[in-house]
Amino acid sequence: MKLDTKALRYLTKDDWRVLTAVETGSRNHEVVPTSLIGSISGSKGGLQRCISTLAKANLIAKVKNAKYDGYRLTYGGLDYLALHAHQKQATIYSVGNQIGVGKESDIFVVADPAGRQLVLKIHRLGRISFRTVKSNRDYLRKRSSASWMYMSRLAAVKEFTFMKALWAQGLPVPEAVAQNRHTIVMALVDAFPLRQISEVPDPARLYAELMEMILRLAGLGLIHGDFNEFNILIKEEREGETEVPATDWTDAEQQQQQQQQNPPIKLVPILIDFPQMVSIDHPNADFYFDRDVSCIKRFFERRFHFRSDEPGPHFAEAKAQLRVGGDVKRLDVEVEASGFSRKMARELEAYMQDVGVDGDHQDVTNEEGEGGGGDDGVSVESGPEELEDEDEDEDALDETTSGTIREEVTFAG
Ligand code: ADP
Ligand code: MG
Repeated sequence: MKLDTKALRYLTKDDWRVLTAVETGSRNHEVVPTSLIGSISGSKGGLQRCISTLAKANLIAKVKNAKYDGYRLTYGGLDYLALHAHQKQATIYSVGNQIGVGKESDIFVVADPAGRQLVLKIHRLGRISFRTVKSNRDYLRKRSSASWMYMSRLAAVKEFTFMKALWAQGLPVPEAVAQNRHTIVMALVDAFPLRQISEVPDPARLYAELMEMILRLAGLGLIHGDFNEFNILIKEEREGETEVPATDWTDAEQQQQQQQQNPPIKLVPILIDFPQMVSIDHPNADFYFDRDVSCIKRFFERRFHFRSDEPGPHFAEAKAQLRVGGDVKRLDVEVEASGFSRKMARELEAYMQDVGVDGDHQDVTNEEGEGGGGDDGVSVESGPEELEDEDEDEDALDETTSGTIREEVTFAG
């Protein structure tokens, strides 16, 4: 979904107050009655004018066929409220290009007031299919149409909380900067997804590092759950680059010096995308763990024709790590205590199962179109099939395809 920020500039204080009132009202009204919007916003005159400005900008939508006259918040309206909050907190100053369109998220490059580039991830859970959700889950009966709003927020809270905890432990993840409603702001990683890399100088080394990362997460009580070539960004780093003043070097010294100035490029994997993370104590933990491992194995075989001689790693050994030291740090436990409760985790998981959210790894079946494509210079990813959209919500209709469009890159020797 696009993020049209034009109206951000001309909305007045009153408009914002009315928009916020529609959001508040929708917590317990599927369609928020106009009179309620008026009373929550405390607006006397001018209410109609605000409503019509907001409706014209597609931030709220009039609902016909209701028993009363009313409005609901659109995705656009929720985006605006989140952006407005980020602006007020000075985390975002401007919004740039969209760099990713996922099935359940949109990714934009943004900048803070100091000009630092960041990434805004907008979670859009439930934009795909509502058909399977018309079940009789408790949370839906209570929340009905506002569930997409609530669930997208849960996904953002979860992702932010995990990213922060992992960053604090020194894991290679983007720095988490802020979270508001269904959005998170994080550091921009200047890197390409592994999926777009056709060659690496040392596949065995990268493979070993990725397996080590899976085990390191498990050692902290966590399984990523969507660990694959879409969610691993590969960054190029030169270590120990130094400026050396010119002097009278011998040839050998000069060569050595040049090497020091130009050390070989190191590929550093950075892990992203955490809404599906599970605790190592999850009932299906072994399934998720094995799936993470086999996604990487399969990708390395197909893309780099690399197969490890070592079996595993296996879930049992990953779990065993936790029993070794008495006081191991358990991030799954820590996260529960710091804002993402077990109840929230259960709700989000049930919803994701209902709407069929199963991460990026399902895209892997589309890998290389079985034609071996993608190794010949520039290639554009193929997204998954068009997904059905059963929702009447017209602003959830566009762009149901996935895929970040970028050039393919080669890190050869
Ligand atoms: P989704 O849940 O939709 O898969 P991701 O978090 O995996 O969303 O992000 C989708 C794509 O956006 C990634 O594959 C990557 O190309 C890009 N992306 C996401 N976060 C960042 C970041 N912090 N820095 C650079 N690119 C990013
Ligand atoms: Mg992803």
